[in-house]
Amino acid sequence: MMSNARLKILLLNPPGKNIYMRDYYCSHTSKAHYYWGPYDLIVLSGILNPHFDLCVIDAIADRLTPQETLKQIEASGCEIIVFLTGAVSWVEDFDLLRQLTQTHPNRYTFIGNGDILFAEDKKFLEEHPYLHAVILDFTSSEVVDFLNGEERPFAALSYRAHSGAIVPGTREFPRGEFSLPPPRYDLFPYERYRIPHGRRIPYAGILTDYGCPFRCDYCIGGELGFKFRNIDNVIEEMYYLKSLGIKELWFKDLTFGANKERTRRLLNRMLDERLRFTWVCLSRVNVLDEELLTLMKLAGCHTLQLGIETADEKLLGQYSKPFTREQVEHTVAMCKKLGIRILAHFILGLPGDTEENINATIRLALELKPEFASFNVAMPRMGTQFRQKALHDGLVSSDVTTLDNSISFPVYETPQLSREKLWQLRNKAIRTFHLRPGFIIRRLLGVKSLYELKTLFIEGIALLTTTLKSPGRSE
Ligand code: SF4
Repeated sequence: MMSNARLKILLLNPPGKNIYMRDYYCSHTSKAHYYWGPYDLIVLSGILNPHFDLCVIDAIADRLTPQETLKQIEASGCEIIVFLTGAVSWVEDFDLLRQLTQTHPNRYTFIGNGDILFAEDKKFLEEHPYLHAVILDFTSSEVVDFLNGEERPFAALSYRAHSGAIVPGTREFPRGEFSLPPPRYDLFPYERYRIPHGRRIPYAGILTDYGCPFRCDYCIGGELGFKFRNIDNVIEEMYYLKSLGIKELWFKDLTFGANKERTRRLLNRMLDERLRFTWVCLSRVNVLDEELLTLMKLAGCHTLQLGIETADEKLLGQYSKPFTREQVEHTVAMCKKLGIRILAHFILGLPGDTEENINATIRLALELKPEFASFNVAMPRMGTQFRQKALHDGLVSSDVTTLDNSISFPVYETPQLSREKLWQLRNKAIRTFHLRPGFIIRRLLGVKSLYELKTLFIEGIALLTTTLKSPGRSE
């Protein structure tokens, strides 16, 4: 598209009426005071940096209004804008782009990245003539080739050619090993980014692989391909983060430890290099064993996020997560023994779920006693098998596209559960788990810093305001 090697590019995290987090082809509204920053743009800053001049506007971190954002965009002088969007906010995001194009027709080149664009790249390119390209893998450098004027079928980028034709990405995502250049964290207000259940600040996200080798029906992870990052390259980035004063990491891998042997090598390197980060990661019940968990703990892991999902093993199997209650109990017990805290994710209201099942899921959460639990209503997320099935079965219509994966009122009902009933059960799960005196005392005793105490206080207030009011659609 362009030939000048030092074009100026704006990385834009658009403003929102809520605190949106849109990254890794997922989009959420913050449930409390955390805001983990636009990780895809951070990675892209490293990829684009050797070739272009960069500016960043993180309108969510800066709480900018749309008007303030428009002014800052104009002031930046950038005419190429790489922006984030998501199912949670795309209407607001595209409204902002529309305003820019109305004020300055043909001035801007827009390149978008986000879950809804990943799922509906062609549709968005057809319906929004001012959208030039969609990124389908934010770790790919194909965007550089595109900006340097190449027109060919890309694997991880869909675009509008000079002829006007839409050239969809082939989605033949390369497997094997990849490397990433160091991101330009210095352009982002990273000192204000916060993760839930973090222990120290400042923190930074980091990838040691990309995509997921599994394919759970309700998750986009398995649609992204799967590749590993070179371990030396990960360690180099850790040294860079250390030089910025980063104390804590959030491994953004969708299933940390998916390859045990490689993960062991990485953790041993972290120990050998005495990097001394504390960290949080996300993994799957049936990929971790005691040896790996022990090494993780030694290398600084304090909190593990696990998708436990539901007490109903049959339902788990139906949605491609065939692990047993015994495996769940075993993994949780190993973590407790080692002193790794668990954030257990539960999903309520998948088609086939019942009131009885959800009550069993609540009981499971109480019996497992994870340090934290997150209860979310099932959402037919863009780009997932679950969405395809839900559309096919008439549970949702294709115009239900504005979805929030964290706090949305249910978007469909099943013969077993009305939307109102599911919402009541979700709120009951949150109240039952969090408002136990023993749980509150344990949380208070587990606090190790002023930062954690402040987080706990703010999360408590958010919990009370969102779940103690009458069930309804207001959220
Ligand atoms: S294992 Fe986790 S990240 Fe991978 S597809 Fe399943 S839910 Fe998604």
